[in-house]
Amino acid sequence: MNDNRDISNKLKKCPFCGHVAFFKTTKEGEGRKCLNKIRCTNCPANMKTVIEPELAIEVWNKREDNHEWQQLEHEQQQCELEDGKDEQRNQKV
Ligand SMILES: [Zn+2]
Repeated sequence: MNDNRDISNKLKKCPFCGHVAFFKTTKEGEGRKCLNKIRCTNCPANMKTVIEPELAIEVWNKREDNHEWQQLEHEQQQCELEDGKDEQRNQKV
């Protein structure tokens, strides 16, 4: 948990609404593989990816580079799962 908080501190504000974004790692899917998420606390902006946390932060922080971001989103679509409850529990930013 503390690790995720440290990573969240490195994140820039949401590219869309300017609110704080947070990072969390979760396990999803049939294989329960680790999935890194970056999500805005205010709007639906979010990124789910299996790439390394540091790299995920880089992509989020370079959010003006929308092309790269959208590519990631596309690649990760198959990993998306609803786990809203889990996220809310960690949403104390
Ligand atoms: Zn936002």
